[in-house]
Amino acid sequence: MHELAVTEYVFNLVNKSVEKNHLEKVEKIHLLIGDQCDYVPQIIEEYLQVMSEGTALEGVKVDARIKESKVICKDCGAEFSRHEFDRNCPKCHSDNLKLNRCTDFIVDNIEAK
Ligand SMILES: [Zn+2]
Repeated sequence: MHELAVTEYVFNLVNKSVEKNHLEKVEKIHLLIGDQCDYVPQIIEEYLQVMSEGTALEGVKVDARIKESKVICKDCGAEFSRHEFDRNCPKCHSDNLKLNRCTDFIVDNIEAK
């Protein structure tokens, strides 16, 4: 359920843009999401559709690109992408891994009239 807070963030951000640029209808929001964030774009879209009733964002679609993050092994220093391992380093099998926190969450672009 942690998508709710981030959806409110997106909604407020896009709303500011709507007011500033006098937009009539926002059709699509493009997001860039780090894979370490574990947000489900479909849930963000569902929340947005509920929040946006009666606003310029009503019926808005969400398009999300996932940005792959790196994991670093604290023992052997290997760097690898998250999908390459399960819980252990693929090189030395250590579980002493440095996982990046969720820092990548960007409203990349919006399509509007
Ligand atoms: Zn390692």
